[in-house]
Amino acid sequence: MSPRSKRSAPPAADLPLLQAIARSAQPAPPPTVTEVADLRRSLLTWYGHQGRDLPWRNTRDPYAIWISEIMLQQTQVKTVIPYYQRWLSQFPTVESLAAADQQSVLKTWEGLGYYARARNLHRAAQDIVERFGGRFPSTLAEAISLPGIGQTTAGGILSAAFNLPTSILDGNVKRVLARLSALATPPAKAMPQLWALSGTLLDPQNPRDFNQALMDLGATVCTPSQPDCYGCPWQNHCRAYSLGIQAALPMREASSPLPHKQIGVAVIWNDQNQILIDRRPQSGLLGGLWEFPGGKIEAGETVEDCIVREIREELAIDVEVGDHLITIDHAYTHFRVTLQVYHCRHVAGEPTPIECDEIRWVTLDALDEFPFPKANTQIIEALRANAPDRAEA
Ligand code: SF4
Repeated sequence: MSPRSKRSAPPAADLPLLQAIARSAQPAPPPTVTEVADLRRSLLTWYGHQGRDLPWRNTRDPYAIWISEIMLQQTQVKTVIPYYQRWLSQFPTVESLAAADQQSVLKTWEGLGYYARARNLHRAAQDIVERFGGRFPSTLAEAISLPGIGQTTAGGILSAAFNLPTSILDGNVKRVLARLSALATPPAKAMPQLWALSGTLLDPQNPRDFNQALMDLGATVCTPSQPDCYGCPWQNHCRAYSLGIQAALPMREASSPLPHKQIGVAVIWNDQNQILIDRRPQSGLLGGLWEFPGGKIEAGETVEDCIVREIREELAIDVEVGDHLITIDHAYTHFRVTLQVYHCRHVAGEPTPIECDEIRWVTLDALDEFPFPKANTQIIEALRANAPDRAEA
């Protein structure tokens, strides 16, 4: 991290150099005391001028800050803001969240994705009320003991709410520190090193602002594909910048293509013009959310055959497959799905929740009362758009 002359143009990306760094895999020397002081000072000065005015920065309420930290995991600020505001008007205190039923919690979260976050918030709120008398814990060990709170989330909450010197290492911070130190391995292989660097840099006099500034630097300047090194307060100390390899860092793990599943989905109608929906088991992906039933299309199987088989296995009823409604492509973290959605008619049998927690017959209007995953909300929109045609048919 040797200082360079201010605001000089970066050298062109030097990939052979990057490969040489990777081969040698020599860790960068830790910053000196003088460098640390300058890094802290320059970042805090930049933050004073360029830091974002975000709703959760205007409060010291650990509950509100905790909600924001959880929502910001894997979700961008502009998406989070309206959800954050709606959540706090629906559940203004930890007690109100703890006392809520899970369906209303999931409904308020609907659309944000990664629903385990909402289930964990709910369970953690109950823990806070039962174990900590309704007060958010103020030690790292206690905060980490709550569902859904890891070390970086705990560090973010405790520094923001209580100004405690707890360091952070979220995705943005990993990228900044990997570039600052020209990390010669993927961050996942250097977590102790990165945690140590985050802790070394953290300003013990002002941990709240320092951590917020570091998050802002990663989100607005040291961005994934085109870091704005000219506007960066750390340019003079940045090893990746001085080597011209900032756009090539952090190094990535070799990844294999995501598996792709074809799914047959049934919108099952009964004679009262109601639709059958089911609630997914609590454990596993999208636990506790409602969905239209269906399952994976096996090799050599048609969509229609798949739907008839899956509905018999899951709900012990027979259906007749009718018109195609919509095809939806959706990506999750570890796989992609294509949903082939068909109107179906209930023919025989009493629906039984064999592979789900609960089933309901509901009207099209009543679907709004239930929390659904995103791909299923697209099905509901298609049903609404399709409804006049069905009425005429
Ligand atoms: Fe380094 Fe550029 Fe990132 Fe600043 S923006 S830390 S100079 S790579």
